[in-house]
Amino acid sequence: MSKDVAVRVTNMTKRFGDQLVFENVSLDVHKSEVVAIIGPSGAGKSTFIRCINRLHPFDEGTLEILNYTIEGGKADPPRQVLQDIRTRVGMVFQTFNLFPHLTVMENIILAPMEVKRKTRPEAEKRAMELLDVVGLAHKAEMYPKRLSGGEQQRVALCRALAMDPEIMLFDEPTSMLDPELVGEVLSAIRDLAKGGMTMILVTHEMMFAKEVADTVVFMADHTVVEKGPARQVLEHPQTERAQQFLHRVL
Ligand code: ADP
Ligand code: MG
Repeated sequence: MSKDVAVRVTNMTKRFGDQLVFENVSLDVHKSEVVAIIGPSGAGKSTFIRCINRLHPFDEGTLEILNYTIEGGKADPPRQVLQDIRTRVGMVFQTFNLFPHLTVMENIILAPMEVKRKTRPEAEKRAMELLDVVGLAHKAEMYPKRLSGGEQQRVALCRALAMDPEIMLFDEPTSMLDPELVGEVLSAIRDLAKGGMTMILVTHEMMFAKEVADTVVFMADHTVVEKGPARQVLEHPQTERAQQFLHRVL
């Protein structure tokens, strides 16, 4: 795998029991590239990005990430490998999964202290920098339930970034937000992309994908139906399936 490739997926197939989720999915993600994954509900988008950081095992194919090569269908890689991947690949989910009994600050510094062995002052300093960037420094001592959904999602982003990830995965980070709160989260993600972060983002925000993504991957019918430069796929889809889908959502 050449040096500028951050993630390479080759012919990946994933099933839950007998149920096929997707098959033969291949994708190269280059360093600093932003890849948006779009497609109908149930297409396997969430499952696919969870296979990338090995929150899910997969059945066939190969995943190359962070100098690891993982073959599908084999015994789990060693624990340290899985932990290393999950430490270096950040993820923000659809739901705001902050720890409710911890303050914003405590949510952010927990993993850096426990996993990266940062001291509390070091971790707090970095957390404040990150909160400042997303405009939430003044909410550091609050509990998640006192924050809006958009604020919670920006804290979740800070929590992921506090681990200094090399790759970020997003699974529809704005789909549970009230419409007026979507912009603030997208804007934080946009800044991250501009800063050169390698990102794979499942989204139904087509305008955002067009603006921020380099590459768009359209998943449907258990596979990748179409992929290419963002504008090309979104404005001039080649397959009938993608045309249909985009016609419906745009
Ligand atoms: P998308 O994110 O594109 O909506 P998902 O990856 O969530 O799609 O789901 C793809 C398919 O896999 C669906 O049929 C879903 O019901 C199934 N699925 C997802 N997660 C699980 C699971 N943990 N166990 C069994 N089936 C699952
Ligand atoms: Mg999903």
